[in-house]
Amino acid sequence: MQFPIFRSLWNILARRTPLISYNTLGTSKQEFNLPAPAKTVRMYNCGPTVYDIQHIGNLSMFVFTDTLRKVLECNNFKVKQVINITDVGHLTSDSDEGEDKMTKGLEREGLEPTLENMLGMGEKYTSIFLDDLKNLNIRTEHISFPRASGYIRAQVAMIATLVEKGFAYPSQDGVYFDTSRYPAYGALGGIHSENQGEGARIATNKNKRNQADFALWKFSASSKGGSFSGGKVGSASGGNITGWDSPWGKGFPGWHIECSAMARAELGEQIDIHTGGIEHIAIHHNNEIAQSECATGRKPFSRFWMHRAHIQIDGKKIAKSIGNVVYLSDVIARGYHPLSFRYLLLGAHYRTPLNFTWEALGAAEKAFLRLRMIADNYPTGGNVPARYQKRVHKRFNDDLDTAGALGALWEMIKDSKLSHAQIRAGVLDADKVLGLNLGAIDQKATEACKRMFGRKVEIQSLPENVQTMIDERNVARERKEWEQADLLRKNIENLGYVLEDSAQETTVFQK
Ligand SMILES: [Zn+2]
Repeated sequence: MQFPIFRSLWNILARRTPLISYNTLGTSKQEFNLPAPAKTVRMYNCGPTVYDIQHIGNLSMFVFTDTLRKVLECNNFKVKQVINITDVGHLTSDSDEGEDKMTKGLEREGLEPTLENMLGMGEKYTSIFLDDLKNLNIRTEHISFPRASGYIRAQVAMIATLVEKGFAYPSQDGVYFDTSRYPAYGALGGIHSENQGEGARIATNKNKRNQADFALWKFSASSKGGSFSGGKVGSASGGNITGWDSPWGKGFPGWHIECSAMARAELGEQIDIHTGGIEHIAIHHNNEIAQSECATGRKPFSRFWMHRAHIQIDGKKIAKSIGNVVYLSDVIARGYHPLSFRYLLLGAHYRTPLNFTWEALGAAEKAFLRLRMIADNYPTGGNVPARYQKRVHKRFNDDLDTAGALGALWEMIKDSKLSHAQIRAGVLDADKVLGLNLGAIDQKATEACKRMFGRKVEIQSLPENVQTMIDERNVARERKEWEQADLLRKNIENLGYVLEDSAQETTVFQK
């Protein structure tokens, strides 16, 4: 029989570091847990609009969500993850203005604006996106990638429910959500409808009842005697993508309803984590919340909302107009390993804007390859150093502080009291979250690593004079004759050998 006092002591001792995440809903750090008896985290990540190749800024989002998934798994949660693919209906502005991105893509590629071409182009860029994820060591077989065009019926059904319940109304150019019927509109991130500033920036749309109202369905160019006034779906070059049938007229879903409908179809009416870029907070995510909560009558739509800060390149916003866009293929073409980019992202907190420069990528590559060198060459069979393991995981659990975790990991690597086998075990343990694929075969990384550090050589197979110098150096180190030890190291290096020391052993590399 257990006494209560022992039980509570046991609970304290057995308790792992709680997982804390910054929740944009409530704008504070909160402990993440699942309501009993749930065991699986239902996570929805706003995905790419596939009208072009995703640049490194877009891709950073999915390294963030993959890291989040790995941290959840380290905390013994199961994860059901969805990344949606927007292959229809996303305008260049997140509000109902600008050009349709997919139509713009067709125009750029000189393709006729037909539905078939649009979906074909979407598949082309989806496949490049999935290859990029694989290059960043994101295992795509665990993730569901629903295409918006495959969920039109679910979207139409959700809009019909909203119209029926009085939360939406058909208008001249589409069907709109009535934000005045949902008083909590704009609560995410503390952005309320009166602060949207839409009226100040954008001409009043006479088809809306309130300026914050947003389109759920947009009519095609020839339908209902006029195209969607803001979006120009399919009408950019005078052509017409006919779109899909709906009770209100032929047309296209709005970008926001796609996410609400796919999240519901794939994960259920209420989910645990929803992610996106910080630019999604003001409009896209507040719109998703309004639609989902009004359609299902259940609150909250998502318990946690997590947002990644932007990536800049050379201190500037990534934009084609200023010509600074970098793709993962550029990183690879310049001879960098793609996981060096993953390492670079891990080196900064996800809520801090990261500045990408080629110099910073070079430094990240050196660090990444050093970890690879340890995984490839240090002896197997060591125990994970418990003190460092605790520190590293504590950082991961504190709102995904990967930079802090890397800091603790490098301290461990430099700790001369640890054996090389222990260091290797510690590095591989941290890699469960870092996702640098260190424990698995990666020929490209291993080759790059050999170019940087040389090939590992067993001491017994070294020339006799080098072996003698290593022995003399070990004696000097034991006697704490550091100057003599350093001199011998330099002499050995002059012969083309590099030494990596711990207190117990030395590993030798030949350049
Ligand atoms: Zn979304």
